[in-house]
Amino acid sequence: MTVASGTLIPKIVRVNLLRRHPIAFTLIALVLLSALAPLPALVDAVSGAPPADVDLVRPTLYTLLAPVSNVLDALTFLSGERAIAFLVTWVAALALWGLLRRGLLWRRLAAAVLAPLAVILLGVAAVLLPRPVPRLVAADSTLTVIDYHAHTALSHDGRRGWTLAELAAWHAAQGFGASYVTDHNVVFNGGVDDPIRLLPGVEWSVYNQHVVALGPVAPLDRGVYGRDTRALLSLFGALHRQGAIGIASLPEYWRNHWAELNDFVAAGADGFEIVNCAPKAIGFPAAARARVLQLAESHDLLVVGASDNHGWGQVTCVWNLSSPSAHGYRSNRVIARPIALAQGEWQPWTAAYTQPWLMLTGLSWSERSSWITWILVILIYRAVPRRAGDPPGIGILARSLSLKILRLRRPTPPPPPSTD
Ligand SMILES: [Zn+2]
Repeated sequence: MTVASGTLIPKIVRVNLLRRHPIAFTLIALVLLSALAPLPALVDAVSGAPPADVDLVRPTLYTLLAPVSNVLDALTFLSGERAIAFLVTWVAALALWGLLRRGLLWRRLAAAVLAPLAVILLGVAAVLLPRPVPRLVAADSTLTVIDYHAHTALSHDGRRGWTLAELAAWHAAQGFGASYVTDHNVVFNGGVDDPIRLLPGVEWSVYNQHVVALGPVAPLDRGVYGRDTRALLSLFGALHRQGAIGIASLPEYWRNHWAELNDFVAAGADGFEIVNCAPKAIGFPAAARARVLQLAESHDLLVVGASDNHGWGQVTCVWNLSSPSAHGYRSNRVIARPIALAQGEWQPWTAAYTQPWLMLTGLSWSERSSWITWILVILIYRAVPRRAGDPPGIGILARSLSLKILRLRRPTPPPPPSTD
């Protein structure tokens, strides 16, 4: 049996392959080119450097299905404005592509409807489809991998049926050892220890500001704190009297109280969120983060990352490493996905191409290999001409791939039996 290898394929066939499968070859080129300026899997949100003592561990199935896993992750980490721009651009571009391609009218119309629909379905899958997810693993076991801000169905905007057990499982799968539960204006008193510890908290909404209260929280009369900024600021003292602490949440302090951050500090705010994965908050720009970091460091305040999970989406964009031996600014490290931090650095209208590019630059080499394997499998399946009598589908693929792929994937293939 002879299988055409790269050197044996006549030039004319190679040119034809390129011309007939431009998408596959462009994708392969992009997967390889994006490796020239790679993004790390994780960065410390304070220093911007990749942390040496934590790893993002991707399950085998996640890597095997890398094209799906990576695309759904990248869609999850779009800011709200960028998600809209991404959707509008791709739906319009694919509808146009469908209409302008050659072929019968009904086929062009079908393509113009189905291709945009596929983008919308991918968005729905990113939000709802259960799938393997990456997990943060810290080398130092004295650190607690923790989330400071997450919701259940008790929040008005929480996913229906999103229970404490499901929230805990969502966190456990991503390497968290603990999470505060901070439903909107509904106090959680703790008491869940398995599979991770769920800690008591609440997210108070007062005067266009959300304050994440952590620790021994108790119900309070929100009306008292909702009149004006002065009243809002007195909430921090009330939380301290309960034995709890109060963290100013994103995006509200950035959007609504940006000029009053010094007043927040003077009133006893215990810290600030500097990364929040919610679509309305993930676009918090680096320059604003730098200002908050300066303020927090000079007053020794906590800075935290928040998944702000509401039961939608399968992956977090941020983790915290909490140290029991430190206080204030130094007690917590915020570890984020670079693609999430980049949301505030790119204009929304660029999302259609910057989000795919950010995704590709963030691939590990095993993910890159998975991408290239999938592209080649589909390319070969589509490129091999079918003879009369050949069954469609996987049979022809298996035959044409049998030697090629096995040779690629096995370092030392057994010698074929010599029959001649
Ligand atoms: Zn929230």
